[in-house]
Amino acid sequence: MPAYKAPVKETLFLLNDVFNIEQYRSLRGFEDLSPDLLSAIFEEAGKLAGEVLQPINLSGDQQGCKRLPDGSITTPDGFIAAYNTLKDGGWVGLSADEAHGGQGLPATLTILINEYFASANLAFGMYAGLSQGAYAALNVHASDDVKSKFMEKLASGEWTGTMNLTEPHCGTDLGLLRTKAVRADDGSYNISGTKIFISAGDHDLAENIVHLVLARIEGAPEGTKGVSLFVVPKRKVDADGNAAETNGVTCGSLEEKMGIHGNATCVMNFDDANGWLIGEENRGLKAMFVMMNEARMGVAVQGLSVSEAAYQNAVTYARDRLQGRSLTGPKFPDKIADPIIVHPDIRRTLMSIRSFNEAARALIVWTALKSDEAHRTPDSDARQKASDHLSLLTPVLKGVLTDRGFDNTVAAQQVYGGHGYISEWGMEQFVRDARIPMIYEGANGIQALDLVGRKLPADGGRALQAFLGEIGMFIQAHATDEDMQPFVLPLKTAAEDLQAATMWFMQNALGNPDHAGAGSTDYMHMFGLVSLGYMWARMAHVCLQQKSEGKGDVAFHDDKLLLGTFFAERHLPETAFRRVRVENGSESMMKMAADRF
Ligand SMILES: Cc1cc2nc3c(=O)[nH]c(=O)nc-3n(C[C@H](O)[C@H](O)[C@H](O)COP(=O)(O)OP(=O)(O)OC[C@H]3O[C@@H](n4cnc5c(N)ncnc54)[C@H](O)[C@@H]3O)c2cc1C
Repeated sequence: MPAYKAPVKETLFLLNDVFNIEQYRSLRGFEDLSPDLLSAIFEEAGKLAGEVLQPINLSGDQQGCKRLPDGSITTPDGFIAAYNTLKDGGWVGLSADEAHGGQGLPATLTILINEYFASANLAFGMYAGLSQGAYAALNVHASDDVKSKFMEKLASGEWTGTMNLTEPHCGTDLGLLRTKAVRADDGSYNISGTKIFISAGDHDLAENIVHLVLARIEGAPEGTKGVSLFVVPKRKVDADGNAAETNGVTCGSLEEKMGIHGNATCVMNFDDANGWLIGEENRGLKAMFVMMNEARMGVAVQGLSVSEAAYQNAVTYARDRLQGRSLTGPKFPDKIADPIIVHPDIRRTLMSIRSFNEAARALIVWTALKSDEAHRTPDSDARQKASDHLSLLTPVLKGVLTDRGFDNTVAAQQVYGGHGYISEWGMEQFVRDARIPMIYEGANGIQALDLVGRKLPADGGRALQAFLGEIGMFIQAHATDEDMQPFVLPLKTAAEDLQAATMWFMQNALGNPDHAGAGSTDYMHMFGLVSLGYMWARMAHVCLQQKSEGKGDVAFHDDKLLLGTFFAERHLPETAFRRVRVENGSESMMKMAADRF
C-alpha cells in the first residue's frame, strides 16, 4: 500500500525563507503567524493527512461511492469519520472570516494544507475544497440575507458546497446552458434543469448541500449574457437557519468514471427547486468566476499533490527493488543486485519529478501570497499588481501543474515496472486520479487560450510586462554572481524564448487568430517553464546565502542546489523547441479538410 508524508519542511522553507511571509504581517490574518505557529499548523495538517486521510485512499478508490435504492448516496467506509475529524478540527473554515466562525487565516495556508490533503486522498479532499470555493463566491457576491443562511454552515463544514455549471450539451461553452430560473412572488427563484458531472453533488458527509447553480432567467438574452447564478440548497433553510424539508434537488445517478472514485460525481436534477440570486441578474458568470478561479488554483494544487505522492512512493520502491548492476560497477556487492536507484535512467525520472514538484510548490506559494495580498491590502497600487499576477498565473498554474502532474504519475509508475500496473501498489490509482485535473475547471486547452487570448493582452500587456520585468531584474541583479550562473543563464535564455514567442503572437496572431490557438498550449508550457525556472533561481539564491552565513541545514541546501541545476539543465531548454512550434504557426494543421481526418 502506498505511503505519504507531508513535506512540511519544504512548505516552511518557502513561506519563511524564500517568500518572507513576515513582510505581510500588517495584513489581516497574517498578524500572529510566527514561524512557530506556522510550523505547528503544518505539522498538525501533515499528521491529519498521513494518519487519517491516506489510510482510506486506496480502499476508497476500490469501494467507491454508491447510490442506494432510496436514491441516497454513500461515500466509502471511513469517509464520514475522517470528514468529522476535518470539520471538528476547524480545517474547512481555516481561512473563512471570523464573523462567520472561521479562523480568518490567510488563504495561502488553506491552499498549502489542501496540497497535503489531496496528496493523501484526492477524492476526499474535494468535498471540503468545493465548500471553500462556494464560501468565497457567496462572500463576495451574495446579499446579507443569503449570507446569513449559508456562511456559518459552510465555514464550519456542517454543510458542503458544489458548483453546477455543466449540462449534457454544454461544457466549455456555457452560453449554451438551458437550466431555467423563474421568479417567485417572494423574490426568490424556482430552478429547473439537469446538470451533469457535479462533484460532491450528493453524499452522506453533511446534512445539507449548498449548490451554486448557473441558470437562465425566463426571458434572459441568449448566450453568456443571459446567465445568472443562484444558490440552491439540497434542503430548505428554516427561520432558525437549520436544514428543513427537501427542495426539489435530487441526484439522478452517479457517473461511472476512471478515477477519484471516492468523490461522488452526480447527475443533478433541479425540479422547481427554490433558490436565491447571487450578484446581479445576467451577470452570473462574473460571480461564478470567483469560485472558478479559487477552484482553478485548487485543481493546480491537485496536480502537484498527486505528483508528490507518486514521487515519494517511487523513491521508496527504487531504493528497495534490486535489479541489475550499476554501470560503474556494483554499489551493493553484498546483495544479489543493486537497487534500481543506482541507474541513471531511474535517477533522471525521480529528479525530473522532484525538481518539478519543488518549483511547482514555490510557484503556488508565490501566487497564493499574491492572492491574499490582492484581497487584503489597503494599498491600491499593491492590490492592482497582486491581482495582475494572480490573473496571469492562474491559467498557467492550472494548465501546467496538472499536465505535468499527470505525466509525473506515469513516470513514477514506470519506476515500478510491471508492479506499477498492478492495483495493490497504488501507482495506477495515482495515474487515474491525476487525469481529471487536466479536464475539469476548464480543460487545459482552454486554460492555454485564456492565457494567450485574454490574459496576455489585458490592460495593454501590463501583467506580462511586470512578470517579465521582475525576472529580468533578478537575472540582472545576479549577473556577476558566479554561483548563480547555473540558474540565471538558462533562465535568461528561456525568458528570451518566451519573449520572442510573445512577440510572434503580437505580429501574427491578430491577423490570423488560428496562429494563437495553434501555439497556445506550447506557449502556456513555456510560460510554466520560465516561472518554474525563476522559482529555482530564487530558491537557489536563498540556499547559497544561508550556506555562506552558516545557517540552516547544509544537506537540504545542497540537495536543492543539485535539483535546481538539474531543472535548469534538463527542463528549461524545452522552451527552445516550444518556441519553434509557436513560430511555425497553424497552417499545416488548419489546411486539412475536416472530412479528411
Ligand atoms: C469527474 C468530473 C468532475 C466534474 N466536476 C464538475 C463540477 O463539479 N461542476 C461542473 O459544473 N462541472 C464538472 N465537470 C465538468 C467539467 O468541468 C467539463 O467536463 C469540462 O469543463 C469540459 O467540458 P466538456 O466535457 O463538455 O467538454 P467540451 O466543452 O465538449 O470540450 C471537448 C474538448 O474540446 C476542447 N474545446 C472546447 N471548446 C474549445 C474551443 N473554443 N477552442 C479550443 N478547444 C475547445 C476542450 O478543451 C476539450 O478538450 C466535471 C467533469 C468530470 C469528468
